[in-house]
Amino acid sequence: MPVAALGPYDDSNIFARILRDEIPSRRVYEDDFAIAFHDINPQAPLHVLVIPRGPWRSWADFSSAAPDAEIVGFIRAVGAVARQLGLEEPGYRLLANAGLDAHQEVPHLHVHLFGGRPLGPMLVR
Ligand code: AMP
Repeated sequence: MPVAALGPYDDSNIFARILRDEIPSRRVYEDDFAIAFHDINPQAPLHVLVIPRGPWRSWADFSSAAPDAEIVGFIRAVGAVARQLGLEEPGYRLLANAGLDAHQEVPHLHVHLFGGRPLGPMLVR
């Protein structure tokens, strides 16, 4: 079910539980601000989710209310994950769903990172 972009943070969402190591994930990266792990239902040969450690529900609250250090740390982490996975040369796609129209399903901010093959145009032409 899609979730709204704004509202109280739900500490029991699946990514909060992954952050607390209550459920397993295939982590590929972690630092003080973010972790990254493989998506359980990959849509490309490489499909990784990068999430901030902080309790942010979506790009909406993160971009307006997160401390500068968390925003900088998270953005740098997304770039570091792509670099670490060797995706800078072939290229990659980033995507963040926010709210109902975008069909955001997990109410913890996440950026999808896709790569590993030519991804084609983003929208059907
Ligand atoms: P979104 O629609 O942007 O909220 O995307 C949620 C993503 O989380 C989907 O691509 C799911 O496949 C992925 N996902 C859900 N549960 C897990 C999990 N336990 N481990 C890894 N990825 C997950």
